[in-house]
Amino acid sequence: MSTEEQLNIIQELFKKSDGGSLKDQVMFWERPTSVKDRVEVLVCPQVSTFFRMSLVNMKLDIEVITENVQESIDAVHFKRDSRVRSPAASAYDPNEYNTLEDIYEYLEDLQSRCPDGFTCEIRNIGETFEGREIRQLSITREGENRKGIWMDSLFHAREWLAGATNLNIVERLISGFGSDEFSTRLLNSYDWYIVPVANPDGYVYTWTDDRFWRKNRTPNEGVPNCPGTDLNRNYNFRWGVVDDGTSDDPCSNLYFGPGAASELETQAIEREGQRLSGSILLWISWHSWDFKWLFPYASTDDNGNCMRSPFYEDIARAGQACVEAVEGTFGENEWIAGSFCEVLYQSSGVSIDWVEAEGISKYVYTPELRGPGFDAGPEHIGPSTEENWNGVIALINEIEAIEGSK
Ligand SMILES: [Zn+2]
Repeated sequence: MSTEEQLNIIQELFKKSDGGSLKDQVMFWERPTSVKDRVEVLVCPQVSTFFRMSLVNMKLDIEVITENVQESIDAVHFKRDSRVRSPAASAYDPNEYNTLEDIYEYLEDLQSRCPDGFTCEIRNIGETFEGREIRQLSITREGENRKGIWMDSLFHAREWLAGATNLNIVERLISGFGSDEFSTRLLNSYDWYIVPVANPDGYVYTWTDDRFWRKNRTPNEGVPNCPGTDLNRNYNFRWGVVDDGTSDDPCSNLYFGPGAASELETQAIEREGQRLSGSILLWISWHSWDFKWLFPYASTDDNGNCMRSPFYEDIARAGQACVEAVEGTFGENEWIAGSFCEVLYQSSGVSIDWVEAEGISKYVYTPELRGPGFDAGPEHIGPSTEENWNGVIALINEIEAIEGSK
């Protein structure tokens, strides 16, 4: 886009695609927020020719990234089916995408490899509308004043790379203990709390029905065709403010839900946050995609200005060290650390805002992993793990340096 006029038309299209008349034909993979932006859009085959022609008529530059997204979805299913049929003990594969069932089985595998002297526990922290468990793996050790690190993922069901990256980092911790310097130190120094699938109903739905489903699956009253709440707009901090990134329309992908923390998935994590409050040094909620490490706040204050944490400088300094390490791993993509509201868009009811405002953890981040798009193929899992493992190490090193100097 190069003109305001083009931006306006694209923003209108976005609105129609988000719960409006184009909701089944067009899906934006990012928000059109400024003129300079390029935006990625998924278009169904029936309207793709018309869609392309309309863009060309508006003098917009277009580039086809993937001609047929369904092919890569089919490939993922085909590979999973062959793993299930194979004589191997487990269908879980760390270099592929895995079903909820396979992920939960893998948590038990991680637990069975718990390093000596540690306690690895799998807890059911809540149940979803469709009756699925939200499982948490914790890796803890006896000791005074031990601090914890929290990592969740798959709030947004379609962000498969976020779940895979989260679990692969845990794999590195456990399999590297005793041999890898950082794995050993990170487990010796911290307790870990991992919720790999924060939205099990939505995640299962991305395997069975719609690969690009974002919300949970709880029905919304009076709108049978529009189930689901955006779990990352449902938290009890400045909940219910309609803004650039939040909607009161149940048909929108950004729907904030019928009430603050109305959703069982939100309640589960809020309960856990409160239980662990004060002992968590670092809270990471993995998302994809945007090549960013975001931190609080997403919200604006009553005057419409982006809110800043009183710890903004420390959080930003550690975030900067983190993205430098992420970016330096392959040197291919530019990564940005910044507050959600300042470098993405304003939004309300976001989990990291709630965690920060409640004082549950000081250092709170939402990485938006590599892209492009939500269909990042399995070939991205290894590189994403590698770069963000380096990021997490740099982040923790910097946090220790900041806290040590206080
Ligand atoms: Zn997300």
